[in-house]
Order: sequence, then C-alpha cells, then structure tokens
Amino acid sequence: MIKHLLIIKVAMPLKLTLALLGLLATGCACAAKVLPIDVAPLEGAGAEQQFGTDAGHPYQPKEALNSPRAPVFAIDPKDPDSKPLPYYRIAPDTYFFFGNIAEVDGVNRGFNGNAGFVVTRDGVLVVDALGTPYLGRRMLAAIRQVTDQPIRYLVITHAHPDHYYGAAAFAELPGVKVISHAGTVDYAYSSTIQHSVAYRKAFLPAEMKDFKAVVPDILLGGDHPREYTVRLGGKIFRIHDSGQHHSHGDLVMYQQPGNILWVSDLAFNGRVTFIGDGHLHEILARQDWLLRTFPHARLMVPGHGAPQTPPFPMVAQTRSYVKQLTDKISASLRQGESLQDAVDHADLPEFANVPLYRLNHRNNANYVYRVLEEEQFAQ
Ligand SMILES: [Zn+2]
Repeated sequence: MIKHLLIIKVAMPLKLTLALLGLLATGCACAAKVLPIDVAPLEGAGAEQQFGTDAGHPYQPKEALNSPRAPVFAIDPKDPDSKPLPYYRIAPDTYFFFGNIAEVDGVNRGFNGNAGFVVTRDGVLVVDALGTPYLGRRMLAAIRQVTDQPIRYLVITHAHPDHYYGAAAFAELPGVKVISHAGTVDYAYSSTIQHSVAYRKAFLPAEMKDFKAVVPDILLGGDHPREYTVRLGGKIFRIHDSGQHHSHGDLVMYQQPGNILWVSDLAFNGRVTFIGDGHLHEILARQDWLLRTFPHARLMVPGHGAPQTPPFPMVAQTRSYVKQLTDKISASLRQGESLQDAVDHADLPEFANVPLYRLNHRNNANYVYRVLEEEQFAQ
C-alpha cells in the first residue's frame, strides 16, 4: 500500500514535455487515442498484492442495488478475455459491474472498482473501464451479451488505475468517443503512469500486456467547459467536472430518464475512502454541490460499493469519516503533536470495522496531517 501511495504521489509531468508529446501525438488530423506505455515490470513490486482478499470464500450478491455486501469475485487470468464479467441490471437499459471491495490484489486482479454501461437505440455509453486491458475486454464481452449496438462513448470518471486502465479495450474500437477530465491527459503523459504501469505489470503481467494509455477526445475541466451533454438514442447524459477532490480530475454524470447519478469516488459505499491523491477540502464542498445540484436523483452509483437509493447514506458516511479525521488531526496539530503521534492518535473507532479501514486509515491520516501542516505554515 505504501508503495502504491508513493507511485500516486510521484511528481506531475513537466508542462513542456506534455505539450511536445501532445503535439507529436496529434500531428495528424486524427486525434491519437492511445499511447503505448512501454515499461518493464518493476522489480520486486507487488509481492504483497498476491495476498489480500480471501479467495476461499467467493460471494456474489443476487442484487446489486442497496446490497449490504460487495462480491468476492476471483478473476482467473487463464479465462479467455471473451468470457463476460458478471453484471447486474440496475435500471432499464442500465447495467453495472460490481467490483470487489479491496485493494488490487492477486484475487480481484484489478476488479476492485465499479463500472457500468447504458444501452440506447443508437448505441452504448460505457462508464469507466476497470483496472486492466484484460478486464476491459471482459467488460466488452458482457456488453455483447446484452446488445450488439455499437459502443459510442466511454466516460472515464477519473484516471485512477481501477477505473482507467481497461480503457484501451474501448478506445480502439471504431467510432468511440472518450470523455474525461483534462487531468486525464496530464496523467496519460506523466511519469506517474509509467511507474504505476511498471508496478502493476509486476504482478498482473498477462492482464497488463500491451497496456496503452487512452487520451480522451472530449475534455472537461481545466481550460475546457465544465459540462458536456451527450444525447444518444433518446437518453441524455449530463457530464460535470467535479473538480479534483479525489484525483487530478473527477467527473460525475447524470443520466435521464431515470435520474441516475454516477458519482464515481465522491462517495464510497461500504468502505473507507482513500484521500491521498486529491484535495482534502474539496471533498466536502463537492459533496454539498452534488446534493444541491441533483435533488431529484433516484439512484446513486458510486465507484466502489453498491448503487444506492435516496437518501443516499453513503454520502453522509463518507463525509463523516473525512470530517472526523480532519477535526482530529487539526486538534493534534494545535497541540503540537508530531506526524507520528498524530497518526497514532487518529483512530476513529466508529469506522474501525468498515472495510479498508486498516489499509487506508493511517495513510489517510498521514496525508491529512501534511495538508493541514502546510496550511498552518502558509498562514
Ligand atoms: Zn476508485
């Protein structure tokens, strides 16, 4: 986990290199959509990732909606990529891939986040692409079980590996437009992705073979519009820049009819969040914005955990965790505690039994301390 954190925190790319590479990549009238990331597996990485979820207790909920538990679904890399992933129908024409609640490990092999797709009479819109090119292809096989409509859009809610690394499976199909935040372009050209791919190749070699980073065609955020609307086959998808609360750039999507709100990692259901890569103070502000902007939402689909119906307790739970942790670390800083002491005193017993607490909490506390300490010095 610490290694994983380090990888995420590696410096952002040089703007100049970015601009240059961007120029080369778009030298023709056609926008290049995929970049081969040709790195060797990181030596010695990922040994601990072979363990984690207990594969001896497989579980698959019958229903995804409001399910109190997430699946324990083992991915066998020996299965052909033409084998469909399991999926759930959560609303008319709307389907959901229910990821394991775990860090990426040797059991879920990158199926530790959610994704979904919506079928219309004029084509399919896909939301997120799971954690490896292999899983992206197995998503595609599942979509093909439901419909032979062409894939028209892939919306990448943010460029964390568990949502983004399967994207090439879709981007390389003819006629697919990829929508994401401008931060996804930065990430695709960054040294961070090189490290992350090298790391993942060490323990998911078959699934990460021929990995390519997808450069989106339609951008939100940064210098681009903050909203983008897709009208497809009688359905409307309003896609919004939701800032950088969790990554270099996050999106949410509102689907109508049905009032379905795809919130990505702005709220976590049934697990503790990871807050080491976004902007701490944006989390609560963006959650306020979410509830204010979509008062008629009837179904919320998170990036992790079960889709939920109103009043969406997952938002309050994620919020309470972030707020309590921030308050606790603030108090420690006021008392002049060291980083080590503050992290040692940051336990939140209320969340101790929530999945991923043990894995994420100390890292989250560490991150919050560094953010608040920096702010203290800046005053
Ligand atoms: Zn995620």
